[in-house]
Amino acid sequence: MATTKNNTLKLKFDSARNLSPSLESLSAVKIEPRFELFINGKFEQPLSRKYFATINPANEEKLAEVAVANKADVNRAVHAARNAYEKVWKTMPPNERAKYMYRIARMIQERAREFAVIESLDGGKPIRESRDFDIPLAANHFFYYAGWADKLEYAFPNRLAQSLGVAGQIIPWNFPLLMAAWKIAPALATGNTVVLKPAETTPLTALKLAAIIQESDLPPGVVNIITGAEETGAAIVEHPNIDKIAFTGSTEVGKIIQRAISGTHKKATLELGGKAANIIFDDAPLDQAVEGVINGIFFNQGHVCCAGSRLYVQESVYQQVIKKLKDRMETLIVGDPLDKNTDIGAINSRQQLDNINKYLKIGQQEGAEMYQSSCDLPKRGFFCRPTIFTNVSQSNRIAQEEIFGPVLTIQSFRTDDEVIEKANNTPFGLSAGVWTDKGSKIFNLTSKLKAGVVWANTFNKFDPASPFGGYKESGYGREGGLHGLLPYLKLV
Ligand code: NAD
Repeated sequence: MATTKNNTLKLKFDSARNLSPSLESLSAVKIEPRFELFINGKFEQPLSRKYFATINPANEEKLAEVAVANKADVNRAVHAARNAYEKVWKTMPPNERAKYMYRIARMIQERAREFAVIESLDGGKPIRESRDFDIPLAANHFFYYAGWADKLEYAFPNRLAQSLGVAGQIIPWNFPLLMAAWKIAPALATGNTVVLKPAETTPLTALKLAAIIQESDLPPGVVNIITGAEETGAAIVEHPNIDKIAFTGSTEVGKIIQRAISGTHKKATLELGGKAANIIFDDAPLDQAVEGVINGIFFNQGHVCCAGSRLYVQESVYQQVIKKLKDRMETLIVGDPLDKNTDIGAINSRQQLDNINKYLKIGQQEGAEMYQSSCDLPKRGFFCRPTIFTNVSQSNRIAQEEIFGPVLTIQSFRTDDEVIEKANNTPFGLSAGVWTDKGSKIFNLTSKLKAGVVWANTFNKFDPASPFGGYKESGYGREGGLHGLLPYLKLV
């Protein structure tokens, strides 16, 4: 009887994995062989005369060459942004500013398919994710903040909201276009100008956004997009003519930035790492909860700062949840990011894959029990099987440190107080999830979990109107919603 059931299950998994490929077309996509720096409304060669390659992590092939901005290039970009701020943007009527933003939002929508494909090619995320989440949400951020541009007196009644000047914005590789929109839109709505640097492994959609910005006739210098790695980011942070730093990335770099700007006039928002707890109580709808856990850590390769990377399951349903989770993991498809059937795409870079593999070893050395789905991995590119660890203790490194990959640690708990203590016991505090039938339990936990966002009976839900940000080593400041206007303003 058990064998028949296992065979049926195996057939189900095999048929899920053996779907015919359904590849997204590349016909809407044009990737230039070389990208320059976008400064003062023009694409300019870098003074550094240097370029670096950006590759497709799913096959390790080069997609394009991208300029490296050195200190002199950063200086040019900051100068252009300052000039545009003083001469045009600061004094432009807010409803006029909004018109440009609406235009950019519409243009992102019009070219959504191209953006989605490039995001998946350059970053490795499944096309379903770029198409249905990243790109629409990026456009929505421009729409949402365009709406605020001429309503700041309603956002902050009886106060005069003044812009700060030039914002230096540095973003990571996990949501390249979305993070760019998340940073640029509130800055423009509040009358600031921008120098933005995308991550070195995923610069292409930000540079495509630069082309849209140029086409939109936004006054030159209001948005400058420059590329490069750590040195370029550091030069932005240290530039004396920048008034605000908006950074999203690792806690380690966030601390470097915090030290670099201490004692200066620069304001900052730091959106850093996370180690979110996803908590399942025994009265939760278990199938729905397991689906939420899968969505929270495995989709998008776990490359999400708010990924639910620690699962806590109430003891009485622990075995049941583990079983359901393993069954569901077996149906996940790891593979070509451009295939619409793919659930888990490529890990963003070799360096990140090495880092994940390092943690898989650490977890086993710490005595945790590792289980990976049995799927095949593509022969080329950077891929990782969805992985869970059981028999984990709270002090294990895999339960404390951010892995940023499709790796989940699982522990059981008995009482509310115990799980609250365990969930809060990390250096991070970005997000958390609670799965239960009881509203009272949700309110009890949401008020005690030290996390910027707590989702109840869902996970990883975003909306431009909703603020996002961390506690503790997950950073400070809020982005999104009305709260996201404040870091770009001085209220007098
Ligand atoms: P990272 O910190 O290595 O790099 C982020 C950006 O900072 C890149 O553009 C990089 O070039 C730049 N940079 C690197 N060193 C710098 C320096 N010394 N000065 C200035 N800039 C510098 O992070 P990553 O690996 O690209 O992204 C993953 C991290 O981002 C994870 O820790 C994740 O949790 C975090 N993240 C947080 C949020 C959030 O909202 N809290 C969102 C997405 C990602």
